[in-house]
Order: sequence, then structure tokens, then C-alpha cells
Amino acid sequence: MLRIGAHLTSSKGYLAMGKQAVSIGANTFAFFTRNPRGGAIKAINEEDVRKYHEYAKENDVSMLVAHAPYTLNLCGKDEKVRNFAFMAMEEDLKRMEYFPGNYYNFHPGSHVGQGIDKGIELIAEVLNTVMFDNMTTTVLLEVMAGKGSEVGSRFEEIAKIIELTERKDNIGVCFDSCHLYDAGYDVVNKLDDVIKEFDDVVGLDKLKAMHLNDSKNPYSSHKDRHEKIGEGALGIEAFRRIINHEKLRNLPFILETPQEIEGYKEEIELLRGLYEE
Ligand code: FE
Ligand code: FE
Ligand code: ZN
Repeated sequence: MLRIGAHLTSSKGYLAMGKQAVSIGANTFAFFTRNPRGGAIKAINEEDVRKYHEYAKENDVSMLVAHAPYTLNLCGKDEKVRNFAFMAMEEDLKRMEYFPGNYYNFHPGSHVGQGIDKGIELIAEVLNTVMFDNMTTTVLLEVMAGKGSEVGSRFEEIAKIIELTERKDNIGVCFDSCHLYDAGYDVVNKLDDVIKEFDDVVGLDKLKAMHLNDSKNPYSSHKDRHEKIGEGALGIEAFRRIINHEKLRNLPFILETPQEIEGYKEEIELLRGLYEE
């Protein structure tokens, strides 16, 4: 069964998001744990959470992939930036325990001139500080496009971060089709090779989720501009192969394409039509 959804935003709470997911044919979804541009986390409404769980169970919605704010930079140079990362991630991971056993995805960070190795070290330091005993969430490092000084656009960098992390059972990786292609991993023509390389360098058991985005830019452009499914450089056939690939087909897939809710519904329908049950 295809587990697919989209990145939803709602100020009306979790039950509303669950309903929105179901209304577009989704059985998973992504959401920001707080305002994506930063700012404070909203107070939790326990009644809303309880109703959400009830609704999600009835409607087979699961494997949520929460997304940390974009402003989170675990390897920023500025003390203030890194303090925000500590504070926000700690708070977010506690919040995630209201949704036990799901995923929390984040962009590893930008080293802003400090060098990749320093960046990797700083990222691992934050993770080792904010992750805690008996947590049920798996924290996912998103593979990046390699824009600017982004860390995590090479599998080797992801592997190194994981290596330095203490709670390895709670660490995983999130693919993003646009980022991979932009980073120089040819998921259009050499999908098997990319998957084999990831398995050799990181280990496929670490791959927990995948963002589905087409790309506005050509192969290896390091730009990170998402496009609607089938309308960019990857093309629809690439998505058919990705969602049906034996090593990927059971992952939760999340759309982050430049769409409104109606567009997501159409993309989900399109992809369900391509999935071989
Ligand atoms: Fe992301
Ligand atoms: Fe993404
Ligand atoms: Zn992106």
C-alpha cells in the first residue's frame, strides 16, 4: 500500500490536519512543529491531540514526518543561532512524544565558512544534547541539495554525523528527490546505483522517509527549487520508478511541491495511479 501525503500547514490544530490529509487522499502527512521561520512553539491542546489520535486510527493515518523550522541551523557560526537550535529542537522532540513513534526531520545545517568537518561536529553535539533516553521519535537527517555551505548533501557527511551520534537507534535519514538530483545523485537514470551507494555508505536500514519533489533545475545544480511532480527536470517516469522501487516503496512519501491543497490532491491521485500494488 502506498503511504503518501503532503506537507500541510494548519493553525487549527492536529485533528484539523488529520482531516485535511484524509480529504486529499493522504494516509500520512508532514507538518511544521512551529512557525517555519522561527518563533515560539504553540501550547499543546491535549484534547485536540486525543481526538487526532482517534481520528488517525480510524482513518489509517500514520508515519508522520514532522519538519523542523527552516531557520534551525545546528552548525551556525553565531552563538544565538545555535542556541535557538538547541532550544527549539529540545522543545520539538518533547512535543513529538505526544505523537509516539513518528519522525522528526530536519536540515542538518549550513557551516557558513567553518568547514564541513566542523559543521558535522557541531550538528552531532546538538543531537547528543537534545536527544533523550526512551524517546520514541526517530530524528531524520534530510539529504540536502548542497546549496551554499549546506552540510549533508553527500552520503559520507550523513554517515559521519550518524557515527558521532550516541543514540543511533533514534537516528535516520530522509531522502528528497529534488535534493538528491540537485546534489548530483542521479535518481532519474541511475536509481539503483544511488540506492546501492547509500546502502554502502550509510545503510538502507537508516532510510525512513522520502520527500517527493520535482526540480526546477537540471541535474547537479545545487539549487533546491522544488517543482510540481512531472513538471521539472526529473519527470513523471522517474517518480513511477521511485515509488515502486523495492527498497523505497514502503517508505512514507511526502509531497513538498509548490501546490495548494487541491494540487496536492491531484498529485496524490496521480502517484496512486502509478503505484503497483
Ligand atoms: Fe526539508
Ligand atoms: Fe524536503
Ligand atoms: Zn528542498
